[in-house]
This record gives sequence, C-alpha cells and structure tokens, in this order.
Amino acid sequence: MSVQNKPPNSRNFQIGNILLLLAGLFFLANLLLPRLFGPSIPRVPYSLFIDQVEDSQVAQVYVGQEEIRYQLKDEIGEGQVLSTTPIFDLELPKRLEEKGVEFAAAPPPKNNWIGTLLSWVVPPLIFVAIWQFFLNRGGGGPQGALSISKSKAKVYVQDDATKITFNDVAGVEEAKTELAEIVEFLKSPERFTAIGARIPKGVLLVGPPGTGKTLMAKAVAGEAGVPFFSISGSEFVELFVGTGAARVRDLFEQAKKKAPCIIFIDELDAIGKSRAGGPGSFGGNDEREQTLNQLLTEMDGFAAGDGTVIVLAATNRPETLDPALLRPGRFDRQVLVDRPDLSGREEILNIYAGKVRLGEDVDLHAIAVRTPGFAGADLSNLVNEAALLAARNQRETVSQADFNEAIERIVAGLEKKSRVLNEKEKKIVAYHEVGHALVGAIMPGSGKVAKISIVPRGMAALGYTLQMPTEDRFLMDETELRGEIATLLGGRAAEEIIFGSVTTGASNDLQRATDLAERMVTTYGMSKILGPLAYDKGQQNNFLGSGGMNPRRMVSENTAKAIDEEVKEIVENAHQQALAILNQNRNLLESIAKEILETEVIEGDTLQNLLGQVQAAV
Ligand code: ADP
Ligand code: MG
Ligand code: ZN
Repeated sequence: MSVQNKPPNSRNFQIGNILLLLAGLFFLANLLLPRLFGPSIPRVPYSLFIDQVEDSQVAQVYVGQEEIRYQLKDEIGEGQVLSTTPIFDLELPKRLEEKGVEFAAAPPPKNNWIGTLLSWVVPPLIFVAIWQFFLNRGGGGPQGALSISKSKAKVYVQDDATKITFNDVAGVEEAKTELAEIVEFLKSPERFTAIGARIPKGVLLVGPPGTGKTLMAKAVAGEAGVPFFSISGSEFVELFVGTGAARVRDLFEQAKKKAPCIIFIDELDAIGKSRAGGPGSFGGNDEREQTLNQLLTEMDGFAAGDGTVIVLAATNRPETLDPALLRPGRFDRQVLVDRPDLSGREEILNIYAGKVRLGEDVDLHAIAVRTPGFAGADLSNLVNEAALLAARNQRETVSQADFNEAIERIVAGLEKKSRVLNEKEKKIVAYHEVGHALVGAIMPGSGKVAKISIVPRGMAALGYTLQMPTEDRFLMDETELRGEIATLLGGRAAEEIIFGSVTTGASNDLQRATDLAERMVTTYGMSKILGPLAYDKGQQNNFLGSGGMNPRRMVSENTAKAIDEEVKEIVENAHQQALAILNQNRNLLESIAKEILETEVIEGDTLQNLLGQVQAAV
C-alpha cells in the first residue's frame, strides 16, 4: 500500500497568493502613502521656526498636535509654507502674539484619506485571509469556511508492490485468526448478511506499544483489498474547539462513499477516555467529549444499508476507555495483540533477517531465546541495529556478535522501562507461576490449568497461569472457594520454598485471596464462628457495574475483630495447604520450572501430562 497524496490544493494555492498580495499592499500603503498624499512641505528645525518668528518673518501659524505649519511673509519668503515638529513650549502663544502673528490651533486637513482607509481595511483583510488559509489547510474543497471539518485521515490504497499482508506480521497468531474473519466480512459481506448475521462494526486492537497493532490494521486492509482510512485519535482534537466532532462526521461520510473500507483510529484513548472523571481527567474536557459522542453516534448510525465500513481502533490503555465505547454495536470485539513468545519472536526475526545479509554463524533461535519481553518493534529495531554495527565495522554480512551487541544495547534501554526481566527475576517468575499451576491442578474449584507462561504480558503481569473453567459455574461451595484461595497463594508459596523469601510479585495474588476470604465470611456466611449473617451491605449496583468495595454494615468492635480473625484464618490455612502440596511435589516443581525457563510457555498435552503427576499432600 502507499499513501495517496491529495492533489496539490489549488484553493490553498490561491489563498497563499492573495495573502502575499495583501501583505505587500499593506506594506506599501504604510510606507508610501503618507509621502504621496501627505504634505510635501519642507520641514525645518524648531529653532529655525522660533528664529523666524523672532525676526518677524512669519505671517500665519497653524499649531497642530503633531505638526506646526507656518507661512512666511510674502515680502520675505514669497509666502512659502514650512512645517516643523512642535515641542512642549508654553511660551509659543505669547511669542506669536508679541510679534503679531496670526495663529490658529487646527491643522489644515490632510489629504490622506486613502492611506487612512487602507490602514483600517487592510489589517482585518489580512487577518481574515490568514484565518481562511488555516481553515482550509485541512483539506480544501468547495465548502469554504466549513472546511474546518475536513478530516485529516490519510487514505491508503492498494499497490501490490508495497501492500502489507498477514505475512508481514508474525508472532500474534490468535490476533491474526480473529482478524482473518474481519477480512472475510470485507471481502464478501453478502455471505454473512444473507443469513442475517450482523457484521461487527468495531474491532479494538489492544496491546502494549510496538506489538504491531498498526501493522495488523494495515494488513487487514491489504488482505481484503479495500481502502484504508487512517487517523490518529489525537488528530481529531486540535486547535479549534468543535473541530473534532466535525472531523469525525466528515471521516465517516468519506468512508461511506468508499465502502467497503476500513477506518482505522490509532490511539483511540486520546478521544475515548472515560468521561467518568478518572484520575487525570480534570474538570471535563468538552471538546474531547463532543468528539467521542460524535464517534458513538456515527458508529450507531451506519447500518447494513451503508455498505461495509469496519472501524478498527488501537489502544495500549484499554482500561481508560469510556465504557460506552465497548458496548455492543460499537467496539464489541476486542483483539489482544500481545508481546510474542519464543517461537513468535523467532518468526518475527525471520521476517526482518530476510532483509539483511546474514553471516553463516547467525542463529535466530538463540537470539529469540535471549530477547524475552521484546515486542515486534524492538525485534525489527534489533535487526537494524545489528546491521548498522556490521556496516560501521566495514563487514559484508551481519554476524552473531553484531546481534549480541545490539541485544545488549536494546536491553539496557528496555530495562529502564522495566519491560525485560533479568535472569534471576525470570527464574522467580517461573517458579511462582508453576506454583500456581501445581496447586491449581489438585485443588477443587479453580478450573483446569490450561497454560503457563513467563512471557511478560500486558502492562503489569510478569507471567501468568491460565485456568479454564470446565463448565459454567453459578454456585461454588466452601471447599472450592478455599481451593481457589490456595491456588492464588501457590505462587508465593513456591517462592518461599525455593528461594526462602518472597518478592513483591505476589501482591496482586494476596489481594485477591484476601478479598475472596473476606467475602466468604461477610457475604456468604461461611464462617462457623460468625454464622450465616451478611456483614456487608450488599451490592448497590450502579449501571456500569463498576462497583467498588462493599461497605460493611455497622458492626460492633468485637464482631469486626472476629471477622478479621476469620479472614486471616482462612487465608493462612490455604497458605499452609499450598506449602504442603508444593513440598510434596517439589521435584515436579523443579522440573517444570526448568522446562518453562527454556520454552517460556507450556500448554496442551505436555502440560496435562506434567500436571497429571501431581500428588495430593499427605
Ligand atoms: P503498535 O501500533 O502496536 O504500537 P506498530 O504496528 O506501529 O506497533 O509496530 C511498529 C513496527 O514494528 C512495525 O511497523 C513493524 O515493523 C514492527 N512490528 C511490530 N510488531 C510486529 C509483528 N508482530 N510482526 C512483524 N513486525 C512487527
Ligand atoms: Mg501504533
Ligand atoms: Zn501469582
């Protein structure tokens, strides 16, 4: 694909010329007019004027604010008119009177009306011209002042040489599969509408920076062979209030004309931030809100009749988005574009290594092993850095040593952003996650362990253990809840057993375990000591379901103390259980942790075989 540049805008061109012309006129008017139409009367020093008065040579004087004009007597200067610049001189009237000079205060009218007119009319004209010029920069066209609304979207059209396809994206297989479906919608919408299926309107790509969200969106357009309107969220909201909403309207208008097509809104969070006034949103930003409302209206507005316009959007801060954006009929699909795992990194390296001349000794797998936490953009950068190093050292091909040096440089940069784990941290994360998995495998309640990963995920998690519920559950009994708490504590327990200390990495687990234990006591009435009473005030649901903590009922000091003790008891019990299970299965813990340090991810049959060996604690 290539960026299709708009034809040079003839309107802008004209306005630019007119602007220049007016500026020139203004300049000339100010410079020349006073000379042309103004007095061509010779100016003399004030002292000379006084001398002439004293010598009785002056016949008449007009005293003005800025000028004194006087006429010499006929017999002396043939009635010549001269002028001088007044100075603050209170003696002047007296002197003139003494010499019998005729004098008056009003200066003769200046024959300068054209200059005056121009100096009044030209500046506003220039101002208007500049205004117009900026308004039209957005796109030009016949709409004149309305052109403020012109969207700044770039339109990409097909061009086989530079077309981006799914082959250019690697390491994000799940996202690719999901988006392949979108491509189908765009290619043959009839197939879906014929059965009465509703084609999704909006797909939100979510993931850390540099993982290829923008690239994926372009690949969707490339695969489907449709036009691709690309604009960044921050470009909607600019300079003039009210621009954003108008731009959104215009963008959708243009897109509908080109349907089927894709609208891609990068950095959606720039306009889609929650209106609920979270941290960082001070005092309501009307402009952004209007833009967001317009976007929602447009997304609601286009229906099957409008042809297929699919809105793709990308964000790396989904948690800040307004819930209204995520409702059905808007961005109802979310696709996670996460950092690649080991094999994904190798694939991405393959893509970029194909573009440079590699030495014999280069081992892409080894490079992938050394670069956990790298996103696609980091890997593409890595290959380029290595090639630059080789070139700087006058070598013909890129060697493994170049790659190693490049890795060190990039890692140093990424470590500052705390996105890359060092060896020790990686080991701790491995044992921690395997701890969760082993306890989860044997405890009732929590679902089947489906995947263990130590690839840093999303924004905060360093690794994760994925549990899949085996069936839909609506009721959980006490043992299941206790099992879930034990599983949550399994990570910390593994750290205690292997390293004899705990890290900060378990804090989220502890939070969740404690919450669960507290709910067992205060909400579900599962405590024998406190009995079947609800000590919280129930959920006061607000519409968006963003309910915070349940406030407790007013309870006596004794009851509060008892609740705290019960909660502590439940959590501590679960902790002991987790420790017992892991001690019993210590060899398995070690061997799975070693394996995951190599492969980074364990799932499927391999994982089930390993977890099948877990023994209950004696
Ligand atoms: P994002 O939009 O998620 O921040 P980009 O799509 O802008 O990331 O990625 C920046 C560049 O990094 C891309 O142009 C591409 O060269 C490279 N890149 C990122 N992710 C991948 C990937 N999964 N496969 C191949 N290249 C990638
Ligand atoms: Mg991007
Ligand atoms: Zn954990």
